[in-house]
Amino acid sequence: MKCIMKARPERGLAWSEQPRPEIGPEDVLVKVAKTGLCGTDLHIYEWDEWARGAVPTPIVVGHEYAGVVVEVGERAKGVRVGMRASGEGHVVGFKSRASRAGHFHLDPETRGIGVNLPGAFAEFVRVPAFNIVPLPDSVDDEIGAVLDPLGNAVHTALAYDLVGEDVLITGAGPIGIMAAAVARRAGARHVVITDVDPGRLALAGRVADVTPVDARNEDLRDAMAKLGMREGFDVGLEMSGAGAAITQMIDNMVMGGRIALLGIPPKSLAIDWTKVVFRMLTIKGIYGREMFETWYKMLALLESGLDVRGVITHRLPARDFEAGFAAMRAGGSGKVVLDWGGDLG
Ligand code: NAD
Ligand code: ZN
Repeated sequence: MKCIMKARPERGLAWSEQPRPEIGPEDVLVKVAKTGLCGTDLHIYEWDEWARGAVPTPIVVGHEYAGVVVEVGERAKGVRVGMRASGEGHVVGFKSRASRAGHFHLDPETRGIGVNLPGAFAEFVRVPAFNIVPLPDSVDDEIGAVLDPLGNAVHTALAYDLVGEDVLITGAGPIGIMAAAVARRAGARHVVITDVDPGRLALAGRVADVTPVDARNEDLRDAMAKLGMREGFDVGLEMSGAGAAITQMIDNMVMGGRIALLGIPPKSLAIDWTKVVFRMLTIKGIYGREMFETWYKMLALLESGLDVRGVITHRLPARDFEAGFAAMRAGGSGKVVLDWGGDLG
């Protein structure tokens, strides 16, 4: 099969011809239809410090996919050949206390498809049957290919009750924008989103009913005043990983405000803990998606009218994956989706 690989521990990704993955008794084989490019894939492409420490080579990359089940292991349950599916990219163990309690997303032995296990930027990907999420007819392959990051957005946005709340989202990347759309569906009153990239703020305004604020030259307090907000944001969703954004969030929360952190800071950073203490803020880290409650909620939200299609700004044949990464580097892009259906070159 044709696949996109990190062949050697150096910058770049390349096409490769590899044998089709062999499945174990509890696995399924998925024929990939569409895949999403993720910031993680860009880190692996660039071979930055995180990637050098986390990713073994050679490896097929990619973890955001939708496709169809073409082979089912003899002990794989609940899955049949022909089923359209996406799936959880975090492969968990079943030995830890958390797993045995059913909190699979808290398993410390989690490994990632396309990060430390063979990935989905390939004609075929092997997935444990446990991880498979069947797709309803109303969810097409390109939305199926972005369920992993939509799941990050849903997991973070639903960390707290949003009904009637004023929500600040820092970072209008694809996940921040989708979180804004989810926050609206979940009943937030005002949703303000910040970024330093005007293209992304414009995209946010097209996809969701939000107040975009350019953190470089606009004052968050002016936006709050225009919305009639007096005390600050009730809920903060941090989706940039930028220290400046976290500081700005802490400075603009109400007393007793609640913050969920999804963004990954590139290095350790300082927080003014005195403000956290005196404002009695709650801060919660968010990793991945809850298995499988987030998947259930997100499919139910999509089936009841959540519309995130506008976040997909680039649709390319898989053979043009380099152009997809170039679009991500150029700024202003939303999700880039690759189509594995045509001639792979
Ligand atoms: P992204 O990099 O596409 O978007 C981040 C955005 O933050 C960019 O548009 C950037 O311009 C903006 N930004 C930078 N500085 C800012 C500032 N000072 N104020 C406001 N915005 C600022 O990322 P994404 O794919 O949308 O993901 C969002 C974040 O979540 C990233 O940090 C990513 O690494 C992280 N992530 C975490 C998990 C998890 O499981 N915790 C999973 C996926 C992604
Ligand atoms: Zn991803």
